Amino acid sequence: MKKYPIVAISRCGTYHDDEIDAVLEKLCSMADFPDILNKRVLLKPNILSDAAPEKAITTRPEILAALIRLCYRRGADQVLVGDSPGIHGPNFIPKTSMIGEVCEKEGAQWCEFAKEPRMHRIPGTLGHKLPLPKIMDDVDVIISVAKLKTHQLMYATGSVKNLFGMVPGLHKSACHMRYPTRESFARMLAGLYSVIKPHYAIMDAIVSMEGPGPAGGIPRHTGLLLASNDPTALDVAQAIIMGYQPFSLPLIRELHDKKLSQWNKLEDIAYPLLNPEKLVIADFKRIKQEKRTRLLMALFGPLVSRFIQLKHQQKEPKPLFDNDLCIRCGRCVKICPGKALTLDKDRGIVADYSACIRCYCCHEVCPADAITIEKRNGSGSWISRQS
Ligand code: SF4
Ligand code: SF4
Repeated sequence: MKKYPIVAISRCGTYHDDEIDAVLEKLCSMADFPDILNKRVLLKPNILSDAAPEKAITTRPEILAALIRLCYRRGADQVLVGDSPGIHGPNFIPKTSMIGEVCEKEGAQWCEFAKEPRMHRIPGTLGHKLPLPKIMDDVDVIISVAKLKTHQLMYATGSVKNLFGMVPGLHKSACHMRYPTRESFARMLAGLYSVIKPHYAIMDAIVSMEGPGPAGGIPRHTGLLLASNDPTALDVAQAIIMGYQPFSLPLIRELHDKKLSQWNKLEDIAYPLLNPEKLVIADFKRIKQEKRTRLLMALFGPLVSRFIQLKHQQKEPKPLFDNDLCIRCGRCVKICPGKALTLDKDRGIVADYSACIRCYCCHEVCPADAITIEKRNGSGSWISRQS
């Protein structure tokens, strides 16, 4: 049944429990929070690489804690929390991000997504199957608990892209190889969304990330919290706040074109509290978009071979390695889907750019800020709206 898409947005200046509890309660009341009485609820935060909360890479533990409390106040039988960052092993528990600790304190159960995953056929991908956690089929309600962040590949992270973390561990890297362009990756993400079918989305935009996200960007206080009964609508609001035209983002286009959104026109989305058009951050440092290639790939992307898509993607800015900063941890080598990297103990990382598909997974997992994204024409791979 079609829902009426509602995005409730409120100011929330701090991560203090009292303020978040009150704002979250208001947002969820305004934006049609699902009936969870006696139900099992799965929360999917964005953990990415289990970094310290103040780096703005992960959903803040305070937001997750408030949401767990809200779920129990509304009668949930059990609240579960899970994610599966690419670089961590099967027994991963998020410690640095403090999410494991919050689960314990608030009485939520941490889930291991890599345990007994089930294969699911992903619509729109010519029959490709991906593993997804078994727990997904055993809960009644799934909530994406996202972070407002830029993303080198998809321009913005958001509540739909956040669900990619449900694909266990390094299975995610293989997806980058199979879907090398922004457009093909967006098609896979939209298919994944149609399988997972999340019921609700919350977005932590109190301290967001601008610049070269999703892991190497700059934390920025934006003082907002968002909730929606339609994750695709929430991502539209996020795009507007960041200063993007929503349909310029391949994932939003794909979700709309595949009729996976609850809205048809942007005007169908209701904003009962703040309107994102009034919240645009004029100098937000966004990822630069290539207008010409964007249009061509949007029109012809599905028709061209993966080899041509890969060559197209290789025109994108390269990851650059600073071997003075590199701590030789090998994470980037492990996650690289193109097998483009080798670690030389003396020289550091050696990259073969002819094998690099510009997925930026290496940049996401580097703990030492040793990887930057190439700047082009002096303008950089990320820009502020005013530049
Ligand atoms: S070098 Fe980095 S950007 Fe290139 S394919 Fe490997 S992980 Fe992706
Ligand atoms: S570049 Fe970063 S991720 Fe790669 S080995 Fe060096 S420190 Fe580790």
